[in-house]
Amino acid sequence: MFETTAKDMMDFIARSPTCFHAVRELTALLDAAGYRPLAESQLWTLEQGGSYYLTRNGSSVIAFQIPCRDFSGFQIAASHSDSPSFKLKHSPALRAEGCYTKLNVEKYGGMLMAPWFDRPLSIAGRVIVRTDGGFESHLVNVARDLVMIPNLAIHMNRTVNEGYAYDPQKDLLPLYGDETAADTLPGVIADAAGVRAEDVLGADLFLYNRMAGTVWGANGEYISSPRLDDLQCAWATTQGFLAAAPGTAVPVLAVFDNEEVGSGTKQGACSTLLRDTLARINRSLGRTPEQYHTAIANSFLVSADNAHAVHPNRGDVADPVNRPVMNRGIVIKHNANQKYTTDAVSCALFQAICKEADVPCQHFTNRSDMAGGSTLGNLSNTQVSVNAVDIGLAQLAMHSPYETAGVRDTAYLVRAMTRFFGASLLQVTDGRYQLRF
Ligand code: ZN
Repeated sequence: MFETTAKDMMDFIARSPTCFHAVRELTALLDAAGYRPLAESQLWTLEQGGSYYLTRNGSSVIAFQIPCRDFSGFQIAASHSDSPSFKLKHSPALRAEGCYTKLNVEKYGGMLMAPWFDRPLSIAGRVIVRTDGGFESHLVNVARDLVMIPNLAIHMNRTVNEGYAYDPQKDLLPLYGDETAADTLPGVIADAAGVRAEDVLGADLFLYNRMAGTVWGANGEYISSPRLDDLQCAWATTQGFLAAAPGTAVPVLAVFDNEEVGSGTKQGACSTLLRDTLARINRSLGRTPEQYHTAIANSFLVSADNAHAVHPNRGDVADPVNRPVMNRGIVIKHNANQKYTTDAVSCALFQAICKEADVPCQHFTNRSDMAGGSTLGNLSNTQVSVNAVDIGLAQLAMHSPYETAGVRDTAYLVRAMTRFFGASLLQVTDGRYQLRF
């Protein structure tokens, strides 16, 4: 069961080379489950018992289900659709040495650079295409080995293994073809999108790793795949969302773009997307602003973004006590400076949910002398202020184009989220909560 779930998740990742594709795959799952699409630009008429979703920019998605009777609050899971990569700049083709065509790219997010070298890469994203009355977005994926970033030979860089500062403008430009390839990329992209090159008005295109996901290890205990951070959580929270029995709250699934670049975009976790959606749900059902505030007080957010497992070779960089291990369950993240939203209340609530779901959980803190990363929970809370917990699945090599995690943990998260979305949580007064399953 664990391996089947992990493979289903990695198949989803293979079909999702960029955030745009991930959102397309997630909305296909929602469509198949009977969810109806809403447009932010149109008036909403929601019905009790109805299931809906909306996308923003084609790269963030929010889905929700209206209970058949009045609701108490919102039970929200958030994850992110984007991963660190290299973005093609405008007019990317560059001639080199009279015999090569390479591509001008820039970093998207904070990636480990070294593992991008010497492996088959391709290009995917979206193009904006002229139509009769305006323009529209088309997804594109050149689904073949297309480019490579070649390393410099050891003989020309003798001290590289003592540490090397990569210059993204010099060292990381991918080789695309010989000198005859200089003008061919627009045609390759247009063909892959199924449109005419002359109709393409704009493009958001990224490199991606072509290597397939795999289950490995002496007992098949590990998985490796591109983009586990954070498509593993995006897929698992979606599965839990779709499997949950109806509770007294509105279950809300949110997958945001742009977490890797600070979330401060119109479709990121810092945007008004979640707040707008919750307010429109409240209004569309004829509820008052006062009822909105009581619903927010009775709400809970699970911010799901992958966590660091203790490293087999570098255990010294982990906290002396809180050292997550792959396959030992969901990681609850704590930080005194509130880079993670978890506090005593939300930790207690989430542990109760895991216990009810018979799912193990473990805890992560940074070493006191190391700054950690940030994630979605505290950013989302600047727009919608609710009790929140930051969690994730333990993994190695975060922000490498090929990451490693435990074969069991995806299924654990599906199980815990199924319980979470079906649970009933009420804040009786500040500091007193009621939790029913
Ligand atoms: Zn992440």
